[in-house]
Amino acid sequence: MAEGASARRVAIVGAGLAGCLLGALLGRRGIQVAVYERRDDPRVAGAERGRSVNLAISARGLLAMDQVGLRERALGRALPMHGRMVHSVPKHGVSGDQSFRPYSADGTQAINSISRTELNLTLLNVAEQTPGVTIEFGWRLRDLDMAAGELTFETPAGTKAVRADIVLAADGAYSAARRAVTFRQDFTFSQDYLEHGYKELTIPATLSGDFALNPDALHIWPRGSSMMIALPNLDRSFTCTLFWTKAEYDALTTPDAITAYFREHYPDTVPLIPDLAEDYQRNPVSPLATIRCWPWVHHGAGCTLALVGDAAHAIVPFFGQGANCAFEDCVEIDRCLTEAEGDWDAALAAYQEARKANCDAIAEMALDNFIEMRDRVNSKAFRAETAARHFLERRLPGRYVSRYELVSFTTIPYAEIPGRMRRQDQATALVAGGALAAAGALAAAARTLARRSAR
Ligand code: FAD
Repeated sequence: MAEGASARRVAIVGAGLAGCLLGALLGRRGIQVAVYERRDDPRVAGAERGRSVNLAISARGLLAMDQVGLRERALGRALPMHGRMVHSVPKHGVSGDQSFRPYSADGTQAINSISRTELNLTLLNVAEQTPGVTIEFGWRLRDLDMAAGELTFETPAGTKAVRADIVLAADGAYSAARRAVTFRQDFTFSQDYLEHGYKELTIPATLSGDFALNPDALHIWPRGSSMMIALPNLDRSFTCTLFWTKAEYDALTTPDAITAYFREHYPDTVPLIPDLAEDYQRNPVSPLATIRCWPWVHHGAGCTLALVGDAAHAIVPFFGQGANCAFEDCVEIDRCLTEAEGDWDAALAAYQEARKANCDAIAEMALDNFIEMRDRVNSKAFRAETAARHFLERRLPGRYVSRYELVSFTTIPYAEIPGRMRRQDQATALVAGGALAAAGALAAAARTLARRSAR
């Protein structure tokens, strides 16, 4: 080893999804890691409100779970969703039809709905059981002094300061650790808020204890400028998430207005949510932002700081990839430490180079997918495009793969996906153009896609 990996004092700020996984991965390398979490121990205090209840975990997250032996356990506590169930726009207050659109051409691939709290707890237990890893709860980072290598926390026992050589900021989109470098001249930072915020509602299990909707799908109610989605939970309830503009939320100020609005726009959900107005009024509206910054690694006289997960690149949730992507960061740090033979500086430099373009790419694709989910899925052209893509996937297995599948069911670097889609669509258009007479359907499909990729 170029540098004694275990000789440096390593602190992780945040015991969320990324912080716990990273703690476990570093502990397994024999590194002593102290993890600091502002919340109380969730095993004692219960789940925090105001964060998404469930998450869709797919190939990238599962690969990360493999690294700590959790894939089977995670899948055992997850519900597979093999496609989207689109609830079309109602007419005159009467529900539209529901149509199931598989995520993959052969219908076998699924994303997995999993409880955020449970996944976090599982990772927390794994981290805590890893020799060398300690976790302090109720420790909120207040200040990071890069020159002194000192972290100051507000704790139940008052203010405490600890020293570290390597600080890994896994403290989420509004990272307190990141503030230490906000005003550095070489640091660029942006946070772009959507005009939409999210609010969660619950569709409980039916009186007979069944799911009220098909649990094998991610349900979408696309309504043009906004939408609602629902993911199933193991207790047979669904967590619905509204993605509405502020104006839409602000317009609904009374229980009657709320119920009337849902009767008009989401009529099939009204009988399924017995306490709709109460649920709506009780739950907060939370913002949605894309956070981009660079560099992610900063050196001070006293310590090195590296941003990880949402602290480095929060994205909007419309591809279900934020956590998957944060997990990939952790695996990449672990891989880079192996390659750099424990040299932290080299490893963190390689980590940020490897991940930045990928995280930028998924941030863009996630924004694009919002328009697809809330609006385009409704259109006949979009249906034709999806059918065309699935047709091509069946005809050209392995050579034509849809964007959704590349993102969700492979671990191909995100940054390679847009280019690969363009090449696939153009190549298919060329081949199909040559064989026009013999393969009318293939050509039509390819032309549809070529038109789209040219846009
Ligand atoms: P976080 O999960 O935010 O964890 C940060 C941790 O740091 C927390 O435990 C926090 O308490 C702690 N912390 C914060 N400040 C301090 C401090 N000052 N001191 C100490 N500790 C601190 N991703 C998916 O992959 N699939 C999905 O389906 C999906 N759905 C989503 C739905 C919604 C509505 C939203 C908002 C996000 C969704 N995401 C999804 C994204 C996912 O939640 C995040 O990308 C993921 O949680 C990032 O993990 P993280 O560990 O970086 O940050």
